[in-house]
Amino acid sequence: MSAKLPAPEHPPTHPKCNATRITVTPGDGIGPEITAAVLVILSAAGAKLEAEYMEVGERVYQAGNTSGIPEETWESIRRTGVLLKGPITTPQGGGYKSLNVTLRKTLGLYANVRPCRAYAPYIPSRHPAMDVVIIRENEEDLYAGIEHRQTADVTQCLKLITRSGSERIVRYAFEYARRHGRKRVTCFTKDNIMKITDGLFHRVFDEVARQYPDIETSHQIVDIGMANFVHRPEAYDVVVLPNLYGDILSDIAAQMTGSVGIGGSVNIGPGGALFEAIHGSAPDLPPNVANPSGLLLAAVEMLHHLGRSEVGETVHNAWLATIEDGIHTADIANEATVERATTQRFTQAVIERLGRKPKHLPVAESTPQATAHANVSTDAPEAECAPTSSWTVGAKALVGVDVFFDWNVGLPEDLAARLKAAAVSELALKMITNRGVKVWPNGHPATICTDHWRCRFQARELGAEIARAEIVSLLRALDVAGLDFIKMENLYNFDGNPGYALGQGQ
Ligand code: NAD
Repeated sequence: MSAKLPAPEHPPTHPKCNATRITVTPGDGIGPEITAAVLVILSAAGAKLEAEYMEVGERVYQAGNTSGIPEETWESIRRTGVLLKGPITTPQGGGYKSLNVTLRKTLGLYANVRPCRAYAPYIPSRHPAMDVVIIRENEEDLYAGIEHRQTADVTQCLKLITRSGSERIVRYAFEYARRHGRKRVTCFTKDNIMKITDGLFHRVFDEVARQYPDIETSHQIVDIGMANFVHRPEAYDVVVLPNLYGDILSDIAAQMTGSVGIGGSVNIGPGGALFEAIHGSAPDLPPNVANPSGLLLAAVEMLHHLGRSEVGETVHNAWLATIEDGIHTADIANEATVERATTQRFTQAVIERLGRKPKHLPVAESTPQATAHANVSTDAPEAECAPTSSWTVGAKALVGVDVFFDWNVGLPEDLAARLKAAAVSELALKMITNRGVKVWPNGHPATICTDHWRCRFQARELGAEIARAEIVSLLRALDVAGLDFIKMENLYNFDGNPGYALGQGQ
């Protein structure tokens, strides 16, 4: 199945002055200051933007809206499709949702794109040749936020990886690479351990990769992949990852460029596009000290997205020339600094350099096709729509059930005996695991057990299809026996292949 996304519309233009409307949320702390700096630069560069200023963040939280986003802000985002967002302060303590997660999920911003490039020697970095783009899946994985406490001892977070979501982000990464003249796409997963979830992401990566023969590809296990990345980032070009690994690697990569203060980030999807700096609201900073560069570079990406690449290039090159001239805010000041600038002075310096290009750093240029982020198609090319794997839902057969118990009064053998005595249905107890380790039959006495037991019931003839009613009978019998089952998970075969992890020793 290929991902079908509606073509995003460009934001509406103002009828009189032909300006493009965008939603702007200045945010908290240094947010208003750096947002103002960025908008002054964009205006001086002739970006022709009409900002709809809206509120999100601290004051909205304090007014009792725990999502931090009022309805009029949603309306504005729906109207413009583009949000330039200053950092916000998340109040400490319970009850407050992550505003970023809410925005991403509500607007379907499935891709997080973070270009990470070093500007050495003007901003020192141990990796002067580093120039990578991290593309992180933004909606799934452990960030689905489905968590439960199940027993006195055990909590759980569900990791959801879908074929459609994986295909969308992987194809986005390949299309991005092609449009931006990038040569290599690398995927990180942990599919040696999470064979079904990360295994799916990896399999989709391999399938999609075959449709882009012009791009080099590789897959690495995430732990050694990150270690290699930190050691030699110049060996990477575009990296695509599931949500959690992407969250971690994108911050590491930004820091490796020399400072998180210069990192911009793009969140993109069918419901719009969100551009922001990667840093927070820096409440520790006094006025007129903050570096506006992260938000400015995000705004450059916004200009490309809006089809104003010429202005985007002008702003980007002016910023590069400013950095190269040694005009630096305090956070990036170093031996190459000629002038330690305030926020306002730095802003003025960028404006003075509009029209100039850097002399030594690579000049910012965008290819004509590398413009709108959202215009990257996530549809498979026509002839290649059919997935190459055996992934179908054609023949789905129920073959058993894993029942989880809260139980704390004996050895695995005792639990097995109670279950066998209670379970009078056609289903047979095949295995008990504790935290994924098989403890019955033939467990090891040294295994440390918690109060959380997974007990696998299947037809006596292994692999035979069962009816849902048999599971209902089993649960009823277990209930009558006073056993505290806390959760169940059906076991399905798909076209004869198990859609569940086989227990250890099976
Ligand atoms: P932070 O990124 O705000 O600050 C970390 C350090 O970097 C501080 O010393 C700060 O002074 C410095 N710094 C950050 N941006 C800078 C800039 N532009 N110029 C110069 N120095 C800069 O992280 P934090 O202190 O952990 O978080 C502060 C608040 O921001 C928290 O409420 C947090 O939840 C929030 N936050 C928001 C976002 C967002 O809105 N996207 C992201 C991260 C953190």
